[in-house]
Amino acid sequence: MDQPPKFVIEASEALALAESAAITLPELLPRLVPAARSLARPPISNFQVAAVGLGPSGRIFVGVNLEFPGLPLHHAVHAEQFLVSNLSLNAEANLTSFAVSAAPCGHCRQFLQELRAASDVNILITSHHTPQFTPLSHFLPHQFGPHDLLSPGTPLLLETHHNALTLLPNHTNDDAFCNGYLHNHKLKNAALEAANKSHAPYTASPSGVALLDRHGNIYKGSYLESAAFNPSLGPVQAALIAFVAAGGGEFDEIVDAVLVEKEDAAVKQEQTTRLLLHSISSDCNLSTYLCHSRPSLS
Ligand SMILES: [Zn+2]
Repeated sequence: MDQPPKFVIEASEALALAESAAITLPELLPRLVPAARSLARPPISNFQVAAVGLGPSGRIFVGVNLEFPGLPLHHAVHAEQFLVSNLSLNAEANLTSFAVSAAPCGHCRQFLQELRAASDVNILITSHHTPQFTPLSHFLPHQFGPHDLLSPGTPLLLETHHNALTLLPNHTNDDAFCNGYLHNHKLKNAALEAANKSHAPYTASPSGVALLDRHGNIYKGSYLESAAFNPSLGPVQAALIAFVAAGGGEFDEIVDAVLVEKEDAAVKQEQTTRLLLHSISSDCNLSTYLCHSRPSLS
């Protein structure tokens, strides 16, 4: 347990860690929490939170809290939201259990309802005097969630999404003659890919953001909605999660960004994305491209 913390631990490594300590995989989770807290970025509260979760593949994922000075607090990201977005980013099918350093807030208990069989997700709070795994249904009885609004076949947050979005014709090639064509083209495709994986069943307003840092690395984030609306995670927050999880440096190293959203969306992300990016990296450029749903062939 002495190695530096990271955001994804492969199944074989997780198993080896558990075996070397003669404990089970769920028992390993709380032991990883203290070191994982050092990955948090909470410059306003200085209250570091880490959530360490196990997926059905046997991989372990970490989430931490992020805060952005100068912006209203609703732009902040909680560790549990980071964890779920990290699972989504790595195509993990579900979350079976997690250990977290502080009791999940009501907002996160609600956000977790977007998972299949959410009531059965086992949660252990390491700061409790007698930490033990307890199902989410204990923390949030009388749930309001996807089952109240969606038809049974609708994919939930960690299930495969194909939103069938394509860029509007006049948004496909308008960067072809720019100096930054290659980067812009890649960035735009990355944002479109993120929008296609977005979980937005409540407003039909999927969106995605791709960020470029000064080293040339690209990070993608998909908008993730909550049935209760307010706990939804914006696409720029999701892309910043990808940036942090991939070992990205300071936020002001982000130099370029693309947002892809629907032309006729009920929920638009452009203004809030611009506000957040400007606040954390004042020279970062943001381009918005509009898309629409590909007409069905049937
Ligand atoms: Zn929370």
